[in-house]
Amino acid sequence: MENQGRYTRRVLLKAALGGAAGLALAAPGRVLAAQGSVPGIGTLRLADDLHVLTVPGASNVLARTGASGVVLVDGASAATSAALLKAVSALPGAGSVQTLFNTHWHPEQTGSNESLGKAGAAIIAHENTRLWLTTDVKWPWNGQTFKRLPKVAQPNKTFYTSGTLDGGIRYGYLPDAGHTDGDLYVYFEPQNVLAVGDVVSLQGWPTVDYVTGGWIGGMVGATQRLLSIANEQTRIVPSRGPVLTYADLKTQASMYATIYERLATLLNRGRGPGEAVAAKPTKEFDAQMGNPDEFVRRAFESLWAYLSPDA
Ligand SMILES: [Zn+2]
Repeated sequence: MENQGRYTRRVLLKAALGGAAGLALAAPGRVLAAQGSVPGIGTLRLADDLHVLTVPGASNVLARTGASGVVLVDGASAATSAALLKAVSALPGAGSVQTLFNTHWHPEQTGSNESLGKAGAAIIAHENTRLWLTTDVKWPWNGQTFKRLPKVAQPNKTFYTSGTLDGGIRYGYLPDAGHTDGDLYVYFEPQNVLAVGDVVSLQGWPTVDYVTGGWIGGMVGATQRLLSIANEQTRIVPSRGPVLTYADLKTQASMYATIYERLATLLNRGRGPGEAVAAKPTKEFDAQMGNPDEFVRRAFESLWAYLSPDA
C-alpha cells in the first residue's frame, strides 16, 4: 500500500493515545446571516427561541433560549468562546447557559467547555467524546496535536444511546462512527430543527477522523440514520456552512454511499491512497464540495481500520 505503510486499528489507537492530536477542519465559514451585536458573529433566527450563531473559522452554534436558561449545541473554539458567549447573552430572552452539548470532541466544538463547566453548566456528550477529551490525541497525517481538557471542562453528563431535555429536545448517539466514534445529534422537536455536528456539510469536504473512530462507511450510515430522524420540513444545522434542507441531507447520503462504494472497490483491488486520489472517486461532487484530495486520502485510510483483513 504505497510507502506509507499500513495502519492497523491498534497502531492508530496507539498513535492517538501516545501523542497529542488536533483538528483543523474549518476554513472560515460563510457568514449565514446578518451580523449580530458582537462583531464577526452572525446570527440566524430559526424560531423565537432558537438561533444559529456563526463563528467565523470555528463552527456554527445552536442556541435555544427559555425560562430555564440557555441550551447550546457546541461552543465554538477556545479562541472565540468569549465572543460567542457574549453573542449568546445578547439573544432575546437569554439567561445563563444551563446546558452545553458537545456534538463530538473536536476543538471547534468544545472551546467553551472550560468556562461553562466552571460556571456549573451541564455538559452533555457521548461517553466516547468524554474519553477523547481526557487524553491527548495526535493526527498522524499532519502531526497536529490536541491536548486533553482539564477535568472541569470535560463532559459531566454522558450517555450511551439517547436522552431528552425539557422543551421537546431529543438527543442521541450516531453509532455508525461517521466523523468520530462519539457523534451525537440534537433534535429540537417543536421547532423541527436538527443539529448534526460535522457529519454533514455543504461547505467543503469533512475530515474523516479515523484516529478517533470515524470512517467513510460511518458517514454513509450516519447520514442515512439522520434521514430517519428528520422529515421533509426539518432544518438541519451542521457545524460548518449554511443550514441544510432534507433534500440536501438526502443528496449527502447518496453522495457518501457512492464514494464509499468506489473506495471499497479500490481497496479490494489492492490500491493505495495515492491511487485512490488519482482515480477521482468524487469527481461529480467536486464543483460543489471543493478540492477532494485530503478528504479522499483520509476516507481511504479510514477503510484500513474497518475492512482490511489484517486490521
Ligand atoms: Zn469535527
